[in-house]
Amino acid sequence: MTYLHRLQPGQDVNLAEMPTRGKSFYEGDKETAVTEFKAARDKLIELQNRFYAEGKRKLLIVLQAMDAGGKDGTIRNVLRGVNPQGVRVYSFKVPSKEELAHDFLWRIHQVAPPTGMIHVFNRSHYEDVLVVRVHDIVPETVWRPRYTQINQFEKLLHDTGTTILKFYLHISPEAQKERFQARLDDTSKHWKFSLEDLEKRKFWDDYMAAYEEMLEQCTTPWAPWHVIPADQKWYRNLAVTNIIVNTLQQLDPQYPTTTDDLSEVVIA
Ligand code: ATP
Ligand code: MG
Repeated sequence: MTYLHRLQPGQDVNLAEMPTRGKSFYEGDKETAVTEFKAARDKLIELQNRFYAEGKRKLLIVLQAMDAGGKDGTIRNVLRGVNPQGVRVYSFKVPSKEELAHDFLWRIHQVAPPTGMIHVFNRSHYEDVLVVRVHDIVPETVWRPRYTQINQFEKLLHDTGTTILKFYLHISPEAQKERFQARLDDTSKHWKFSLEDLEKRKFWDDYMAAYEEMLEQCTTPWAPWHVIPADQKWYRNLAVTNIIVNTLQQLDPQYPTTTDDLSEVVIA
């Protein structure tokens, strides 16, 4: 499952042809997937514990999706049970006046993970080639060079010890409609809904074009994108967790060893 969803550098991306459901990748039913997901999450908890204790490497997880695409739910489900001291989540909203007075990567670089930490970006620097492009917030002469700027920035992070995993949660417009409706029908979910979401929905095709180009331009050997079928939350959770677990297993973090001989220690 790890590499099923990983894009290759140079690969053409046509999102309309890429499944938003897990069926073609997974034979089991929802119940089996949930069981597998929980087992994978237990592994993630153990690996994160080691990663934090080792304190040498850094992991950056980037989540992008359309509104109601499941970024919040992914974070809530996949990271449940980890040691919160070693994991931080950053949500990137419309930039502040101060942020806008700097280059677009300024606010991002400040919260790149230090050693031992896993940082999760709920939205990211990619908004600067997505929402910014679709709504003409800056001209193409400004956003187009950002693909290269992003790749170079991510190369810097990579070369200085950061493993980068990027996930695009791929939902269908029908799934978005259902989720918006669910938010409207439930007053406890109204806070998650804004009229602006409906405005952005009208630009669905433009967003898909922006996502496609971003996925093509910014899939690099050092910072791969994964396109996760995300209409079914149970498949999405399983797929994302497996990829993170696999990556951490490859990093193989080790508990620090002490140079003191502890075998004879007696506590008075
Ligand atoms: P939810 O999915 O739960 O609604 P959200 O991530 O959409 O959460 P909101 O506060 O609703 O959070 O929206 C944040 C908004 O900020 C998004 O519409 C996003 O496109 C916008 N945004 C993020 N980064 C930038 C940026 N660099 N320039 C302009 N807009 C941005
Ligand atoms: Mg929103």
